[in-house]
Amino acid sequence: MRVDLTAIVYTAIAASANLIGAAAVVSRSRWSVRALENMVAFSAGFMVSVALLDLAPEGIKMHGEKAAIIILGGYLLVHLTQHTLAPHFHFGEEVHQISRAVSVAALIGLLLHTFVDGVAIASGFEVRESLGLLVFLAILLHKLPEGLAISSMFLAAGASRGRALAAGGALGVATILGGLLTEYFAPLRSYGLPLAAGVALYVGASNLVPEFQGKKGWGLPVSFFAGCALYVMARKLMGAS
Ligand SMILES: [Zn+2]
Ligand SMILES: [Zn+2]
Repeated sequence: MRVDLTAIVYTAIAASANLIGAAAVVSRSRWSVRALENMVAFSAGFMVSVALLDLAPEGIKMHGEKAAIIILGGYLLVHLTQHTLAPHFHFGEEVHQISRAVSVAALIGLLLHTFVDGVAIASGFEVRESLGLLVFLAILLHKLPEGLAISSMFLAAGASRGRALAAGGALGVATILGGLLTEYFAPLRSYGLPLAAGVALYVGASNLVPEFQGKKGWGLPVSFFAGCALYVMARKLMGAS
């Protein structure tokens, strides 16, 4: 049994962005709302692109048409855990009055999603390093808003700053766990890519895009399209296409 140390290191870097996002909220550092919105739009472009251009096709290469049902399963899993069992979750800063139970439910749903974030990076490296790096980039970008979202939810529910930071840290731990288990657990290695395709598609198209699709002006759509375009360029540079 060999463990891909490179994959684990990149998974840990992505995981740390959850903590950085949480720390930004807890320390009340003045991030600009505009910058955060643009980052959400840009990372949406990356997530949708990695799902459709790389994760789904690689999954189909490995499992044939059977991969499609796993992709759908991954997509539905996020809806179930983040938006059905958990009554309230969205990216960006929490601006609503929420209860403690709602914040804990959101954390549990998000733990499962971040676990798959780790699975995605590790199973990408399993196929080839360039794919692992592309998946890492796409995941890394949405991890700041992700950490920020969960710790601002905890603060909005009346939790202490320590607990709010710990919630962001827990997302990071789940990410690393996803990466590690992918190395040791053969089914995750094998079905990780199509599963991650469905999850990344949901996060990009159904979590991140709705955050800005109702907003006026060209700035956010340009960030979104630029995210897609830069992803396509990045994979060309890495020789993935
Ligand atoms: Zn809210
Ligand atoms: Zn995520």
